[in-house]
Amino acid sequence: MWGMIATWRMAVEGITKGSELLKEGGDAGDAIETAIREVEDFPYYKSVGYGGLPNEEMEVELDAAYMDGNTLDIGAVAAIKDFANPVSIARSLSHEKVNCMLVAEGAEKFAHKQGFERKNMLTDRAKAHYRKRVKEIKQQELKPYSGHDTVGMACLDVSGKMTAATSTSGLFMKKKGRVGDSPITGSGFYADSKRGAASATGLGEDLMKGCISYEIVRLMGEGMHPQEACETAVNRLDAELRERRGEAGDLSLIAMNTKGEWGVATNIDGFSIAVVTETLEPTVYLVNREADGRCTYEKASDEWMENYMKTRMAPIEE
Ligand code: ASP
Repeated sequence: MWGMIATWRMAVEGITKGSELLKEGGDAGDAIETAIREVEDFPYYKSVGYGGLPNEEMEVELDAAYMDGNTLDIGAVAAIKDFANPVSIARSLSHEKVNCMLVAEGAEKFAHKQGFERKNMLTDRAKAHYRKRVKEIKQQELKPYSGHDTVGMACLDVSGKMTAATSTSGLFMKKKGRVGDSPITGSGFYADSKRGAASATGLGEDLMKGCISYEIVRLMGEGMHPQEACETAVNRLDAELRERRGEAGDLSLIAMNTKGEWGVATNIDGFSIAVVTETLEPTVYLVNREADGRCTYEKASDEWMENYMKTRMAPIEE
């Protein structure tokens, strides 16, 4: 069996490309890196890679990570600027025995030495989003941070190797140097070929409070189906946060186990995922929260898919 599951509709072109490798017996590391690079390179996805939304100072600072579930190797970069594919830098760092998580200038120095492609990641479109948001904040007292999403993936190849990886520009208008959950092991991602892999999107500050990707892998290791593991972890963390803090940020998780079974859970409306397996062509699902805390999903309609692209590519009215 092989398969990939990813957060958000934006991942579907990526997992389609990744699945072509998996189909031919390719490696879960190569497949997940290929898949995430595809999302990073697409300028109209405004929360990942090129075209990602900037921080408060109008700089695009990116977070990314990679984990190999066979060796438990981890590589991550945080607040890195001006490099085209943070996920590839993260994967390259995962081969290091020490210094495998680097931030800001340190990460950039490593990437430069390794010959990774430099690129100004701030697009005119992202600048327009920034100017619009500055205006909105003044006029409507809008929360500056809304408008963010991470591409997070879990992958299984035919050899049984599992990987997890993430890439994001983090919260729109974040403080310079702010790091979310996405490059943090166990929070934004975790992979263990003996148990399964998981990844997160949502409010990093809250996802980290539950080390939630690790928690899901742990629950799968105890025999839970990925769907049950995702629902259990999300509902528990959501309840704990509400009880102790009076509110919970967005928590959305995906997972796959060693058999290629998968699951998803969220505490928000409007979450979408992209999935491909040996027996399922690349498919986008819209996730629904039921009253009893369970999550169900339905295939996105053609109309929804068309509308999604239209809104992503629509001109920005400033
Ligand atoms: N989790 C990301 C962060 O906090 C953002 C997101 O996934 O929407 O940086």
